[in-house]
Amino acid sequence: MNNFICYNCSNTNPDLCKCKSKDLFIERVYEIAFGDNAINRKFTTYEVLQELRKFSDLALKNEVEN
Ligand SMILES: [Zn+2]
Repeated sequence: MNNFICYNCSNTNPDLCKCKSKDLFIERVYEIAFGDNAINRKFTTYEVLQELRKFSDLALKNEVEN
């Protein structure tokens, strides 16, 4: 686990983090894709990945154009 950082407490040492960092990570990923509380709005992981892929493609396109 190099480069660990807890998305909740920002702890960089996984042994010191008491959060369920994987659950929180998933929650944050949902939020990036669909906004606050997305985790409770019944999106599928597939939909989340599609959305993130869309963002990623757009970002790459902007980089090429700029
Ligand atoms: Zn933590």
